[in-house]
Amino acid sequence: MTTPVQPAIPDRARVVVAGGGVIGASVAYHLAHEGITDVLLLERDRLTSGTTWHAAGLMATFGSTSQTSTELRIYTRDLYGRLEAETGLATGLKQVGLIELAIEPGRLEEYRRVAAFNRLCGVEVHEISPREVADLFPLARTDDVLAGFYIPADGRVNPVDVTMSLARGARMKGVRIAEGVPVTGFLHNGGAVTGVRTPLGDVAAEYVVNCAGMWARELGDLAGVNIPLQAAEHYYLLTEPIEGVDSGWPVLEDPANYGYYREEGGGLMLGLFEPECAPWQVAGVPENFSFGEISPDWDRMAPYLERTMSRVPVVAETGIKKLFCGPESFTPDLLPIVGEAPELRNYFVAAGLNSIGILTGGGIGRLVAHWIAHGRPDVDVTGISIDRLHRYQANPEYRASRTVESLGMVYETHYPGRPMRTARGAKLSPIHQRLVAQRAYFRDVSGWEGADWYAPEGAEPVAGQLSWGRPDWFGYWAAEHHAARTGVILMDMAFMAKFEVQGCDAGRVLERVSANQVDGEPGRITYTQWLNEAGTLEADLTVTKLADDRFFVVASDTAHRHALTWLRRHLGDARALVTDVTSGYAQINIQGPRSRELLATVTSADVSNEAFGFRSAAEIGIGFARVLCIRITYLGELGYELYIPAEQAVGVYDRLVAAGRAVDLRHAGLKALASLRMEKGYRDYGHDIDNTDTVLEAGLGFAVALDKPGDFIGRDAVLAQKERGPLRRRLVQVLITDPDPMMFHAEVVRRDGQPAGYVRSASYGFTLGGAVGLAMIDADEPVTQGYLDASEWTVQIGNEVYPAAASLRPMYDPGNKRIQM
Ligand SMILES: Cc1cc2nc3c(=O)[nH]c(=O)nc-3n(C[C@H](O)[C@H](O)[C@H](O)COP(=O)(O)OP(=O)(O)OC[C@H]3O[C@@H](n4cnc5c(N)ncnc54)[C@H](O)[C@@H]3O)c2cc1C
Repeated sequence: MTTPVQPAIPDRARVVVAGGGVIGASVAYHLAHEGITDVLLLERDRLTSGTTWHAAGLMATFGSTSQTSTELRIYTRDLYGRLEAETGLATGLKQVGLIELAIEPGRLEEYRRVAAFNRLCGVEVHEISPREVADLFPLARTDDVLAGFYIPADGRVNPVDVTMSLARGARMKGVRIAEGVPVTGFLHNGGAVTGVRTPLGDVAAEYVVNCAGMWARELGDLAGVNIPLQAAEHYYLLTEPIEGVDSGWPVLEDPANYGYYREEGGGLMLGLFEPECAPWQVAGVPENFSFGEISPDWDRMAPYLERTMSRVPVVAETGIKKLFCGPESFTPDLLPIVGEAPELRNYFVAAGLNSIGILTGGGIGRLVAHWIAHGRPDVDVTGISIDRLHRYQANPEYRASRTVESLGMVYETHYPGRPMRTARGAKLSPIHQRLVAQRAYFRDVSGWEGADWYAPEGAEPVAGQLSWGRPDWFGYWAAEHHAARTGVILMDMAFMAKFEVQGCDAGRVLERVSANQVDGEPGRITYTQWLNEAGTLEADLTVTKLADDRFFVVASDTAHRHALTWLRRHLGDARALVTDVTSGYAQINIQGPRSRELLATVTSADVSNEAFGFRSAAEIGIGFARVLCIRITYLGELGYELYIPAEQAVGVYDRLVAAGRAVDLRHAGLKALASLRMEKGYRDYGHDIDNTDTVLEAGLGFAVALDKPGDFIGRDAVLAQKERGPLRRRLVQVLITDPDPMMFHAEVVRRDGQPAGYVRSASYGFTLGGAVGLAMIDADEPVTQGYLDASEWTVQIGNEVYPAAASLRPMYDPGNKRIQM
C-alpha cells in the first residue's frame, strides 16, 4: 500500500464517506450540492485505487428497462458533460456514440422493446442497418448483423478524471478528503451509527456511507450490516495500434459474442463479459490491494476471446499489448446495493455496481445524497434497496455459486422468465418434495424454490426455449388459470413474509403505521398500505387481528426486510414485540369457486359464507393440525389462505390433495397467480407500485381509513393530495385487445398516439383474452374513467403498435361479486 503522509482528520463530521472510488466521490460531491458540506471522505489508500482506476469507461444510457437505472444513466452522462465547467477538471467524456449489435431475432426483439422504452425516458436511439454499422465502425464484420442500435450521445469517459473532478467539486464546497486513512470500525448507539474508527482516532458522525467497493461486504460486517457482494474477474484486451482506427468511432457492443470494442491508444480495447465468470477472493479481498491487477487466466478466457475477436477480424493479426484483468463487485441479482441498512440506522451503503459503476456513478451519488438530505429517496428504489437482500446470501458458498452467473447476465438476451441457474435450493417449502412429485417447474423466488407452473401427467417440467412469445408451457398455465376461475386450485406460498406482532400496544402501533383500520374486531384480515410522511408507499400487505394483543402481518417476499424494519423502527417505546415467523409457517392457498367445498370436507369448522364471510380469520383444525385460516384472495375468487405450522404442512397438504380429487383440485403456480391477479388489477409492491407512488395514485384510496380514530403516518399528505383535486397521475389497467401479443414490462402506452406512460408489470389475461398490465399514466388533465374512455389507447411492443383498452376499475369482476360469494 502506498501510504501518503498521514493527514490530520477532524474528530467529527456530519457525514463520513468510506471509500474514494467513483461512488464515494460522487456521494460526497452530491452531499455538498445538497447543502451538506460537513462531510469527511476517508480513503484507505489513494482516490480511485480500488476498481475505478482501471474501468473501461463506457457510457451507455441505452439498455435498461428500469426507469430508475435509465434515469441514473442519463443524469450521470449529463453530469460528466458539465463537471469541467464547474470544477476545472475534465472528465474525458467523449460522446462518440454507442452501437449495440443484434445478430439474433431474440436480441433484435429485446432491443426494439428497450429502444421504445428508452426513448420514452428521453434517450435518442436509432435502429440502423448493417451497412450503417459498417460505416460507423469500419473494422467490424457485419455479415451476420440484423440491426444496430445507435445512441449518438453515448460514448466513453475517463473514470479517474471523473473521480478527480467529482472530488474537486466536493472540496470546492467544503468537503474534506483524507487519503491513506482506512475506516477500521464503527461506533453505534441505540441502533444507529454514531461514527467510525480509524487508526488516527474516532470520528463522530450522524451518517456514514459505506462506498468501499469490493471491500464493502467486509466493512459492513464490522457493523453487522449485510452487504452480500462478491468480487469477480473482469477482463479487457488491449491491442497494438491498428491502421485506420479512429478515436472518433463509436463504442461497439456485440453481446452475443461477449464483447465490446473501442479505440484505445490508436489500437482497440476489447472488453469481455463471458457467460461464466470467476469469483475472486471469496474469503476476502486483501486489504493492501491497490491499483491492483489479477494475473489473467488465459486458458479459461481463450474460447471467449476467440469469439470476441471474431467480430473485428483484424485483431487476430494484430499484436496484443495486454490482457488486463481487474476485480469488480457483483451482487446476487445484478442490481446495486443502495440505501440505509436495515440493521443500523443512518448507515448507508452504495456499493456492488456490477460493472456499471462509472456510467451510473453520478446518479447513484445523487440518489444517496438526496436520501440522506431529505430522509427518503426520490426514485423507485424497490429493486436496488439494500433491504431486499438476506444474510444467507453473504455465505461464501452462496457468493461463490451465484457470482459465476452474474457477470455473463449483463450480455445475455434478457428474455422474460429467465431462471437463475446458480445458488438454487437455498430455501425449500415444507411441502417441496410433494410439489416435485406434482411436476412443478421451480424458479428462484427470493431464494425459495417457488413453483412457477406444473407439467401435466406424462409431461416433464422443462421450460424449453426462452422467447418473447408464448412459452412452450402456455397451455399448462392457461389450464391452471381457468381452474382458479372455475374450480379450485392449490398454491404453495411458503415464501411470503410473516410477522407476529404481540403486546398490549400492538394494535396501537399497527394503527399508527397502517393507512387502513386494522385494529377492529379480532378474527378479521385487513388489506393496508404503510405510508411515509409524504404519503408514498412503504409497504403493501395484510394485517390480521388474531386477538386484542396479537396480530399477524403478511407481506410479499421481496418486501420482507423492508416491512419488518419499517415496523420495528416505528415501535418507539410501545409495549409490543415483532417476531419474524416466516420460517415457522407454511402457507397453502386454496382458491376458486369450489374452494369452500374443498375446505368443508377437511375441517369440522363451519366455513359457510354466513359463519365465515370474506375477510374472516380463525384457527381451524385440519387433520392433526391447527391451521390459521383466512378468507381472502389475491387472484379475485372465493378463496382461503392456510397458515400451517411448518412441521404439519405435509399432513395438511396430503389431506387437501386427497379430498381435492372429488372437486378436481389442480395445483397452480406463480405464473397463474400473476395472470389472475393482473386481470383483477391487484397491485404488487416493487413491481407495479413503488415508493414514489402515493396511495391515491396507486388506486388504493379505498384502503385508506381517513376517518379512523387517531392519526396514521402519511395521513396529512393523503388529505393534502385530496385537497389538490383530481389526480393527473394514476395507475391504469391496460388490456391489449388482440389476443396474440405478450406483454411483460416496460411496454410503452400511448394515448392518441402520444407516449403517456409504460407498463410496470404485465401478464396474460386468459379470462380477459389478451395481455394485460398496469401502467402509471401521467396526463395534463385529471385521469378519470371519462378521460380514459375519450382517448384512443395503444401499446407499443418493440416496433409494433396494438390497440388497447384502459380502465381504472379492474376489468375482471369490477363489482367484487366473486370474492364475496
Ligand atoms: C475491467 C473493468 C472494466 C470496467 N468497465 C466499466 C465501464 O466501462 N463502465 C462502467 O460504468 N463501469 C465499468 N467497470 C466497473 C467500475 O469500475 C466499478 O463499478 C466502479 O469503479 C466501482 O466504483 P466504487 O467506488 O464502488 O469502487 P472502488 O473504485 O473500488 O472504490 C472503493 C474505494 O474504497 C476504498 N476502501 C476500501 N476499504 C476501505 C476502508 N475500510 N476505508 C476507507 N476506504 C476504503 C478503496 O481503497 C477504494 O478506493 C469496470 C470494471 C472493471 C473491473
